[in-house]
Amino acid sequence: MAFHWSLAAPYHPEGPDEALTVRVRPFELAMRGTEGGSAPRCIGLQGEVGRRVACRLYERRPPPCRELMPSWEDGRPSPQCDRARARHGLPPLRPADFTPAPPGEHTPPWAGETGGGAADGGRAGLG
Ligand code: SF4
Repeated sequence: MAFHWSLAAPYHPEGPDEALTVRVRPFELAMRGTEGGSAPRCIGLQGEVGRRVACRLYERRPPPCRELMPSWEDGRPSPQCDRARARHGLPPLRPADFTPAPPGEHTPPWAGETGGGAADGGRAGLG
């Protein structure tokens, strides 16, 4: 999940710190840890994949992370989410796995201990 270098800080104050990225093409960066390998793990991911994870830079995550929806959060499957989970040995999320949190709470199933967790931080990304 590459993004233009200008979307990282300090060039973009709301983007991830450039030090947390690697250059993958002349004009594109990726989050460190996601640039290759069979089970990529983003430097921003904290927690145990499959148990409980979160993105420690959620407010400053790059655009690809903001665009990727977990499967069924919006009522549709996400092949990219499913692939990311599979790379960590996790099954795809199912519609039944996604239960909206009560008003005022935010406990998505992919971050919980029973939902299997996502291979990314918080609600998006490839971890
Ligand atoms: S959402 Fe996932 S991939 Fe994106 S910055 Fe956070 S931990 Fe990394």
